[in-house]
Amino acid sequence: MNLLVHAAAGTLVAQYTGNPFLAFLYGVISHIILDMVPHGDSKLYQKYKNKELSIKKAAAKTILDSISAIILTVVVFNLPLPSSNLVMSMAIIGSVIPDILIGFFELMSPNPPKFLKVVHKWHFHFHDMIAKKYDLSIKHGLLLQVLVFLLLMKRIF
Ligand SMILES: [Zn+2]
Repeated sequence: MNLLVHAAAGTLVAQYTGNPFLAFLYGVISHIILDMVPHGDSKLYQKYKNKELSIKKAAAKTILDSISAIILTVVVFNLPLPSSNLVMSMAIIGSVIPDILIGFFELMSPNPPKFLKVVHKWHFHFHDMIAKKYDLSIKHGLLLQVLVFLLLMKRIF
């Protein structure tokens, strides 16, 4: 899913613990669970790898998504939420770090370190677990992500 949705989930899981390490762990788990929900982009990464999707378009999408997640994070830090800034930070970092590591994998390709190869393998194992059999169209996937984002926002505020 988009980083914005992952960051929103991180904000929510931060409300359920006072421990920054658990917050990070819950953030990572929330990422895996959300990615397992088919959301229309299971073929997008393959299109990028096959050069059917230009690097320019992929970069533009990633930059816009990242800026959206940063804006959400800035807003969240200015709201009177019960969790500490450290817990909130760790939860949001945990919720987005799998995709950040995929970004490092791409930057270091064709020879990424073994650790990133392992992360890459497991990330897409979970990401495509259901979507390889059944995925939504890109449009419906985007609509689903908007709905998930709104539900998360409703739950947070
Ligand atoms: Zn992901």
